[in-house]
Amino acid sequence: MTRERWFEAARIGVVGTIVSLYYFRVVPLPFLLVAVAAGLYPLVKTAVVDLYREHRIGTEVFVTLATTIAMIGREYVAGAILLVIILIAEFIAELNTDRARASIKALIGSVPQVALVRRGQTEESIRVEDIGVGEVVVVRTGDRVPVDGIVRSGEGSVDQSPITGESMPQEKAVGDTVLAGTIVDSGALDVETQKPAADTIFARIIQLVEHAEEQKAPVQKLADRVASWLIPVVFVFLLTVFLITRDVRLIVTLLIFTSPAELGLATPLVMIAAIARAARAGILVKGGVFLELLAKVDVIAFDKTGTLTIGQPEVARIRLFDPGTTEEELLRLAAAAERRSSHPIAAAVLRRARSAGLNVSEPAEFAVLQGRGVRAKVEGKSVLVGNAALLGETGLQAPSLEGETSDQTVLFVAADSRVLGAMFFADIIRPQIRATIARLKRAGIKRTVMVTGDHKAVAERIGAEVGVDQVYSDLMPEDKVRVVRELQAQGHRVAMVGDGVNDAPALAAADVGIAMGVAGTQAALEAADVALMTDEVGKILEARAIASRAYRTIQENLIFGVGVVHVAGIVAALLKLIGPIQAALIHLGPDILVFVNSIKLLHIRIPTLADEIEKG
Ligand code: ADP
Ligand code: MG
Repeated sequence: MTRERWFEAARIGVVGTIVSLYYFRVVPLPFLLVAVAAGLYPLVKTAVVDLYREHRIGTEVFVTLATTIAMIGREYVAGAILLVIILIAEFIAELNTDRARASIKALIGSVPQVALVRRGQTEESIRVEDIGVGEVVVVRTGDRVPVDGIVRSGEGSVDQSPITGESMPQEKAVGDTVLAGTIVDSGALDVETQKPAADTIFARIIQLVEHAEEQKAPVQKLADRVASWLIPVVFVFLLTVFLITRDVRLIVTLLIFTSPAELGLATPLVMIAAIARAARAGILVKGGVFLELLAKVDVIAFDKTGTLTIGQPEVARIRLFDPGTTEEELLRLAAAAERRSSHPIAAAVLRRARSAGLNVSEPAEFAVLQGRGVRAKVEGKSVLVGNAALLGETGLQAPSLEGETSDQTVLFVAADSRVLGAMFFADIIRPQIRATIARLKRAGIKRTVMVTGDHKAVAERIGAEVGVDQVYSDLMPEDKVRVVRELQAQGHRVAMVGDGVNDAPALAAADVGIAMGVAGTQAALEAADVALMTDEVGKILEARAIASRAYRTIQENLIFGVGVVHVAGIVAALLKLIGPIQAALIHLGPDILVFVNSIKLLHIRIPTLADEIEKG
């Protein structure tokens, strides 16, 4: 407990003692009034601040009013006990919220503040924020990795679960990337720092989780709106009851149950807990709003390359059209042109060229033609690598591919306006994608679609294999946005799943943009609303399950925690079944219920795809 909290506890203790002394007639009335004033003081302060700064009426206003009215109506003992109970309740709630926040931090963990840095012949203990990019950090068995970097020597097994949620440790050796926040289970690594401490993926996750609370979900805004709308209604109601009954005790009792403040409490805690739970599974949700939207999504659009497929295509075959060109020459030109592209296809061309032992030169000029290919100047030649559409745009005739298998991605290579040949690519479908799509259907997704820049034949074959309902092919990045918008115009809530390559605009346009495998690419992490740290598609199911649970918990909180208890309380008060003290005690119920119900989310087990398949 902090000093503030101790002070608060002491204050409540003193007020409580004086109230009971008055009750046993040990001290006279003025003592009680002073104690009540001392108990009310912080409440009044909060109430005034809320009212003037945020134009918000919280529980404090209701408690202050209830106590003041009780005093004026000479219900001294009832008013004072009510106040003490409320003070205790608020105190417990604050302690619990402190604990919830602390346990969220503990769940995600932290990185060390200092690290061993190799400088010259010595190893120095350096504060993490002072470690420069390019410096080498020594990490031993049992240590948490303090930086994002590349292993320069040593090897070891690294538990990546704090970042990615994967339970199996990964073997890391020279050249592998390691992330801050992961733990070296065995072995020792020398890690060359690649990013300043403030920019690591881990730092970003912490930042996002902390700010996620500020991104209010629509239900939360609705609850706030309802609360502000209810307040005048409540006052008119209370005034009417008073004019009819002239019963101060009744008004005091009713005030306890008409405070709409729990409406505001019912959602934020759920959101914090759900976001923390998701983070532990390697799913980063950037705000409560996206949890709610994800729970409501009914259409999911998938990008193809890197999402439905593993995004590591291979050059399956090369066909030459130009008799004067060899396969090697075509590959060399294409690889040089693709060298600066980050597209998976570019990587495939480069891999093929390297394995053929070719020397890939640096292009003199280079331009990405989004979703169609690349153009570059290589060895003085103007080289174009791209699909048939791109060829058409530049006035070249794509040679007929009659008799070829039409279900592989085809790219043409042209140099100085001559089409030299074509490369055929095979991309492997992600394992488990078919099962995931089937499960998503059971989880309430009405339609799944694929949006791809690839041509129709490939798109339809893959679409049929993975089991999506609809295939949109030959799309440019902006066409993917158009498809998403069309689906939204039909009244659907759309999630878009992609890898951030050529689909970032669509990720942004969708109600929820989900990026996969972002532990690798910072760009995708920034573009997405929900970021999956690994590229296991099953995580989409887990994200949806957490979102649905959170949304359901909020509804439970609002309906049972707030609605039912308050309505029952008002009825019981009107029927004179309970007085102010019982009211204050019962009132603790929903507070506790809302709290327990929300915090439960931190520890729920989310079924993984493997569990579900086992269940059948
Ligand atoms: P997807 O929608 O399947 O993820 P993209 O939109 O990233 O695919 O790309 C669509 C098409 O554009 C590819 O199938 C390919 O024909 C072409 N293309 C994109 N980038 C490149 C590149 N760097 N080199 C050659 N072709 C490319
Ligand atoms: Mg893509």
